[in-house]
Amino acid sequence: MRFVSLFLNNRLTIAPETLVNDSSLEAVSFSEFSVVEQPPLNPTFQYDEKLQQILYGKKLLFDEISFTVDQIQKHYENGYVKYSTGISKTSNGYLCSRCGNEKIRLFAVFSCFRCKNDNCVYCRNCIMMGRVSECTPLISWSGPEVRWPDENNLFWNGELSIGQQLASQKFADNIGSDGELLIWAVCGAGKTEVLFKGIEKALNLGLRVCIATPRTDVVLELAPRLKAVFPNTKVASYYGGSEERETPAQLVISTTHQLYRFKQAFNVMIVDEVDAFPYSYDKTLQHAVSLAVTPKHFLLYLSATPSRTMKKATQKGTLQCGKILKRFHGFPLPVPKMVWGGEWKKRLERGKLPAPFLKWLKAQVESGRRAMIFVSSVSVLEKLTELIKKEIDLPVDSVHAEDPLRKEKVSQFRNEDIQLLVTTTILERGVTVPYLDVAVFGADHDVFTESALVQIAGRAGRSKDDHDGEVLLFHYGKSLSMIQAINHIKSMNKEAGI
Ligand SMILES: [Zn+2]
Ligand SMILES: [Zn+2]
Repeated sequence: MRFVSLFLNNRLTIAPETLVNDSSLEAVSFSEFSVVEQPPLNPTFQYDEKLQQILYGKKLLFDEISFTVDQIQKHYENGYVKYSTGISKTSNGYLCSRCGNEKIRLFAVFSCFRCKNDNCVYCRNCIMMGRVSECTPLISWSGPEVRWPDENNLFWNGELSIGQQLASQKFADNIGSDGELLIWAVCGAGKTEVLFKGIEKALNLGLRVCIATPRTDVVLELAPRLKAVFPNTKVASYYGGSEERETPAQLVISTTHQLYRFKQAFNVMIVDEVDAFPYSYDKTLQHAVSLAVTPKHFLLYLSATPSRTMKKATQKGTLQCGKILKRFHGFPLPVPKMVWGGEWKKRLERGKLPAPFLKWLKAQVESGRRAMIFVSSVSVLEKLTELIKKEIDLPVDSVHAEDPLRKEKVSQFRNEDIQLLVTTTILERGVTVPYLDVAVFGADHDVFTESALVQIAGRAGRSKDDHDGEVLLFHYGKSLSMIQAINHIKSMNKEAGI
């Protein structure tokens, strides 16, 4: 965008060129202002509470706010809104203030109609949330803070296992201080309930809390549960396509990507599946977490399979850790069994299913139980699903990350309208279905890392009445990850004394 400089009440301010009818003033790109003047707060100005609630703790683009440029500008002129640079020049390139990207290869130029520059630099790293370019101001709130309701009591009378109680207490004890804590909970330990007490304490202290998770499925599952147990609290969920992004909320459940929209907002940040892709591999997402928290904050990490670095930090004592080794129902984690599947890839190409797999499939039909079949890629997924449909007469379907019907299919599977669900690793976490068996087709493939296999095995045996679901790894040669995953599960069971 282009802005003009002008004097307002004897102070230098800026205004979008579209709002100024004075051709004698020269309009320049927002990037030309090295310092953006911030008018002082005018206490007599009637600010808009809705705008306050939308902008509080955020940094947004004009396009993301359901207010006119004129309305936003009025708030700026009265000191209630702040404009800051989206992309700034650094000594060796650029910095995107929204996502923290500094990698030269993730910046590009385009012919920009807003600043009339043929080479306006923009950030490719966070482009999926709307373009931030050199001439894009980021808009934030600089007026009075939002006051949250005083009463945020927890309405939940379920019971915690002993392991859950200890972890829950540890988290609650830390609320109000700054620091970090890892809760290392086996799949099926019931980690959400462990959060309730600490969240309640934080909310009643007037603190703002965020649960960030890499997966939209998890946001969709968690949000209604938290709304139900905190009925008096303002809760909102943030994911691509979410309709609650303008809802002011003291408790936010967000995908890690959506954190880019926040700025120093949260006193307590809970990072779920801290080991999971993409969070652990993507430094800019870690940066997003660091920008979304207030300078003093408490960080809680949740994981069933913490990374080596994290495990080391807990051993050294530099990271506090609460372990929940037992599943909620107290039964051991199912240990995967390895099954020779032959040259599964070649057989698929020839349009055949490996014999041991076919045998398992037929037994599955007999048992009437639901099963998830994990595969390494979308092409394997398509071929395998087609072959399975030819062999057996059951409701079978498949799902992958780009599948437009993903949400619907997962809920059909939950409702037993689908009995066999073939999936890529996107469903290795988060989806909990009782009476479930699990098979990994081609478990020797590289995508099935130790932690992926532990998570996949963790889908089975989640309910008390069916705690011993079957987990089969069909392979063409045992991989190191398969062996490590089995050892990992056995050692967790052993440590738990079961
Ligand atoms: Zn960016
Ligand atoms: Zn531009």
